[in-house]
Amino acid sequence: AHKHYDAVIIGAGAAGLFCAAMAGRRGKKILVLDHVVEPGAKILISGGGRCNFTNAKVGGENFISKNPNFCKSALASFKPQDFIALVEAHGIKYHEKKLGQLFCDNSAKEILAMLLGLCSAAGVELRTGHSVTEISKAEHFRVETTAGTVESTALVLATGGLSIPKMGATGFSYEMARKFGLGIVETRPGLVPLVFTGERWAWMQGLSGVSFDSIASHGKRKFRENTLFTHRGLSGPAILQISSYLPPGGALVLDMLPGQDAYEVLLERKASRKKAELKTVLGEFLPARLAHALLQPPLGNHTIGDMPNKALRNTAEMINRFTLTPAGTEGYAKAEVTVGGVDTDGLFSKTMGAREVPGLFVIGEAVDVTGWLGGYNFQWAWSSGHSAALAL
Ligand code: FAD
Repeated sequence: AHKHYDAVIIGAGAAGLFCAAMAGRRGKKILVLDHVVEPGAKILISGGGRCNFTNAKVGGENFISKNPNFCKSALASFKPQDFIALVEAHGIKYHEKKLGQLFCDNSAKEILAMLLGLCSAAGVELRTGHSVTEISKAEHFRVETTAGTVESTALVLATGGLSIPKMGATGFSYEMARKFGLGIVETRPGLVPLVFTGERWAWMQGLSGVSFDSIASHGKRKFRENTLFTHRGLSGPAILQISSYLPPGGALVLDMLPGQDAYEVLLERKASRKKAELKTVLGEFLPARLAHALLQPPLGNHTIGDMPNKALRNTAEMINRFTLTPAGTEGYAKAEVTVGGVDTDGLFSKTMGAREVPGLFVIGEAVDVTGWLGGYNFQWAWSSGHSAALAL
């Protein structure tokens, strides 16, 4: 007979390892399988190597999903404070950076070491560098791998999304979910830099490296953070955030003077400094290179006092509501997350268990729950993994 486990978890990433540790701690016999050799690779590169492991304030509004209510139950039953308590109990030093984002003082390695330590203390078996070749279900799940076959009462799909294929990302959880009759919400890259072509690109090409405070919006969705011009288009936190909401072909609106009405500012300057050149005035509240690019010659050399209000209004409109339609994104190769995934309609929100397939669970980024930039994606991995662990 094949070795039997209470659960086989596929994917030794944030969600899989945490779920394994929490279930193992409850006395469950757990096997975690991963096709890459080193577990938790994304944890190590996350947050620039310091892992933004959660956010001080996490709610349903910080996530994108076809069903915006689905994530709430898991998030409420395992909160940021619960994860922070673990981090503190392991002596890991951390700090809040901005917007509630919590990072390790030293290294993301500490978070991975904590997860692996919790797994080993709980007797979790971890087998890496083996591929799963087939999964079937009769009375139990039967998982065939390149290193033999095992059986289990429960199966947890935790292989994450499609982002960064070079690191081992695959659509395995989607394929398996589909095979067991679950739906998939169409996937696309999220938290991803945007690419421009044609006239827009010709315009922004020379701006690479310029960064400025902004509000990036799409419909009602707004993010106030920095925007950065890159060698291919736009990035920076405001752009990454709005990218997750942008449908293919969708436009974003950039406010380059957040919180101020550019027209009023220009009218005030027209009254107080009529001799100043428009480009000098703009350069006082925008990076000079950007100010110059916005003002097609000979506009920039006009003194502000000579400009009709109508022209100032057009300039102001451009500053407060610059509409841009990207040609596309830098794709999964550069995306921090995958928007979409296993349809939550088929899952119980309290346990992450499949409604129609007893014993099957889907956790982490594989599920159609995608967090904002700022530690929300890891919190989803912890919370969803914890919910499943209690139900195994
Ligand atoms: P993952 O952590 O991706 O783990 C999935 C595991 O499954 C991997 O080990 C993979 O090898 C394995 N796997 C895949 N396919 C198979 C297969 N066919 N068979 C077996 N195993 C397989 N989020 C934050 O909250 N804060 C951050 O600071 C942050 N920074 C990030 C930085 C970068 C560069 C990237 C790419 C992402 C970042 N994220 C961050 C997002 C976060 O890393 C993910 O949302 C999170 O890791 C998802 O956890 P997961 O366990 O669902 O998937």
